Amino acid sequence: IDTVEYVRRAIRSVPDWPKPGVVFRDITPVLQDPRTFRVLIDMFVYRYMRQRLDLVAGIDARGFILGAVLAYELNLGFVPVRKKGKLPFKTLAEEYSLEYGNATVEMHTDAVKPGQRVLLIDDLIATGGTMMAAAKLLQRLGANVVEAAAIIDLPELNGSAILKETGMPVFTVCSFT
Ligand code: 5GP
Repeated sequence: IDTVEYVRRAIRSVPDWPKPGVVFRDITPVLQDPRTFRVLIDMFVYRYMRQRLDLVAGIDARGFILGAVLAYELNLGFVPVRKKGKLPFKTLAEEYSLEYGNATVEMHTDAVKPGQRVLLIDDLIATGGTMMAAAKLLQRLGANVVEAAAIIDLPELNGSAILKETGMPVFTVCSFT
């Protein structure tokens, strides 16, 4: 089997979580096993090692795990895109809608400088709302979001397609339907 399939097979599908009818794609087994964790990170490293990037921005919370390791491997800085109310300094916020209600992501206003080339990373793209809000925050700060990356795409929810329609390049390792 290839590296994509090696990682894909380690992702655990948990039915009826966090609510009935939802199948949650759980990446903790990928991180827990040192070989799948390394294969996964190396896929991102090889994809981005020849790109001129300045920063990796990871989305709260699983995007922190991937983003921090990737930033370290690529010799780049890491900045967090956090859920509302967690960052201590001056923040910029972007609200977006969920299936029920709204959510807000925040970044420190000095997290990126205008013109910096930023890779945005999270574990999964569903509706794309989280990625889109994070990208907007970065763009409001003047950053150039080079790509939105994730381990998993859920293409039936159209998020990756919607992101691409806005002109945002998207990379995902694998997808689940
Ligand atoms: P979206 O905003 O694209 O609808 O949802 C993506 C966000 O929700 C990501 O931050 C992701 O961590 C989380 N998420 C939603 N569903 C799942 C899932 O099945 N598995 C994992 N690991 N994360 C999910």
